[in-house]
Amino acid sequence: MKDCLFCKIVRGEIPAKKVREDEYTLAFEDIDPKAPTHVLIVPKKHIVGLKEAQASDAEIIGRCHLAAAEIARERKIENSYRTVLNVGPGSGQSVFHLHVHLLGGRDLRWPPG
Ligand code: AMP
Ligand code: ZN
Repeated sequence: MKDCLFCKIVRGEIPAKKVREDEYTLAFEDIDPKAPTHVLIVPKKHIVGLKEAQASDAEIIGRCHLAAAEIARERKIENSYRTVLNVGPGSGQSVFHLHVHLLGGRDLRWPPG
């Protein structure tokens, strides 16, 4: 997608602090972190969000979550982190390219606000 912010990051047209990359996913530091670890994991393929995803996207969405788990292990926060998918503007989704937030490194309250 030509004008999508996260597609531009995937293509290297906008700089980002890359954390991890594989054939299907890219992980980078959130520009406005809400926790000591706040990494975004995106599919390299443009998917608008979870509610727009198709059954054929199941594997790549799973890969995004497994990438989050791997990063959490690398950062030794594997017993206390949260993955979040905001879905729709009412939930706070502001970038319409599916992304998993990985948050950790501080107390995480439940329920989230
Ligand atoms: P959401 O509100 O769930 O759509 O999440 C979008 C996230 O993208 C927010 O946490 C933003 O801080 C983050 N963000 C926006 N622009 C950039 C950027 N250029 N590089 C990294 N993260 C960004
Ligand atoms: Zn995109």
